[in-house]
Amino acid sequence: MEKGFFTGRKVLVMGLGRFGGGVDAVKFARRAGAEVIVTDSASPDKLLDSISDLSEFTDIEFHLGFHSHDDFKQADIIIVNPAVSPDNEYLQMARSCGKFITSQINIFFELCPAAIIGITGANGKSTTTALTAHLLEAAAQSNELAYSNIILSGNIGNQPLLADIDKITSEDLVVLELSSFQLEQLAEIQKAPHIALLTNLTPNHLDRHGTFEQYCLAKENIFKFQKPNGRFSPVSIFNAEDPIAAQWFDKYKSQPGLKCIKFAIDDINKEFRSVFSLPGRANLSNLAAALAVARCLGITDNCIKNALPGFVPLPHRLELVAEIEAIRWYNDSIATTPASTIAALDAFDEPKILIAGGYDKNLPFDELGGKIAQSAKAVILIGQTAPKIAQAIRAYPDRQLEIKMETSLTDAVQSARSLAASGDIVLLSPACASYDMFENFQQRGLEFISLVHQIAK
Ligand code: ADP
Repeated sequence: MEKGFFTGRKVLVMGLGRFGGGVDAVKFARRAGAEVIVTDSASPDKLLDSISDLSEFTDIEFHLGFHSHDDFKQADIIIVNPAVSPDNEYLQMARSCGKFITSQINIFFELCPAAIIGITGANGKSTTTALTAHLLEAAAQSNELAYSNIILSGNIGNQPLLADIDKITSEDLVVLELSSFQLEQLAEIQKAPHIALLTNLTPNHLDRHGTFEQYCLAKENIFKFQKPNGRFSPVSIFNAEDPIAAQWFDKYKSQPGLKCIKFAIDDINKEFRSVFSLPGRANLSNLAAALAVARCLGITDNCIKNALPGFVPLPHRLELVAEIEAIRWYNDSIATTPASTIAALDAFDEPKILIAGGYDKNLPFDELGGKIAQSAKAVILIGQTAPKIAQAIRAYPDRQLEIKMETSLTDAVQSARSLAASGDIVLLSPACASYDMFENFQQRGLEFISLVHQIAK
């Protein structure tokens, strides 16, 4: 594919969405000289920010709140949002008509001339991706890595994926976070990153993938289609402490031309641990993952040690909001799976008051229920999943902890305040997505921060 491929063609962008991916695809297609129609099953009032981001283009047609078969029949190219399931009826119809179907991530992989480091997993993707980019950036600056630019892109980069695609050269190195949905799309063109890393695997997005096995299959695509890049042979990096990843290591290790590496928390020497500020064992696993990438690129321990203190943690991830009357309040709003909340509870030894619950993605809460029963002093539940989580905790009747149900985050914070004593931790770590009550996890986290700051006044 070349950028000219889009010139003068009729492009249908399916799924504008609210996270910037749809907007990026539209802008790319317009810059490339395509005629663009945008369609989304959500109504315009749900997409206001994305629509206003496109206000500079007066010639885009928006068909929102519905999809029409005609739009799919008349398009030459369809760019599909990763949130759309591959078995969507309109896509199936377009496929059967032989339409060219692609996606933001597929276009990126087709057009990117640089080597790509891709990071996926159920949890810890963003942290590991940001940390990896930080270490590589430091190495590039101290001439330990011979790349012109280290480009952090994808969900957490400063620029949307396709915004600067023209500026990337083969002398650069790209670090990308990849979701299971994007990996499903990449498999359609049999592409994968040159260095691929999987942080861990626990159930997530089962509302979309159906079963954990299907979710794992989507994730496995990151290793399946790896090919050499001019500069190096492909490298696959697995978490030795994750049972499925460890099995995959055994499966892939004898594949010709592929270098397989395992990482574990034990790889982290004391010196690194003493200069690494993120709390909890899960973050040590993320550090071990980033170290594995850095070391496989030949970066020295000395360079890593010097770079680690300068890493700025990402917001909404076990972020200390305030300490008020010896009670520490943590915002972990990004925790949208039971496994990430389990990791958050494991990160602290102090008595914990947990605020959890939210949008129902059909994930199992049994293990989380056990963890809460065992390690929290009290739990305050909000949102759609509140009854399910309460039930999972009550399945462990031995430990009596207070379970409160609240209808808003404001009430949950007030409740937490009345339950917390000096030395406790209050932790917003919902184990669920936020869409039942908030726009997104950022809005939920920001509202929590503002409520906590009001207490501090
Ligand atoms: P992702 O991008 O995969 O959602 P993040 O780095 O944004 O991952 O972290 C999301 C949540 O998962 C946070 O609540 C964090 O505390 C938790 N977490 C981070 N790393 C891990 C890990 N290695 N294992 C389990 N949970 C983790």
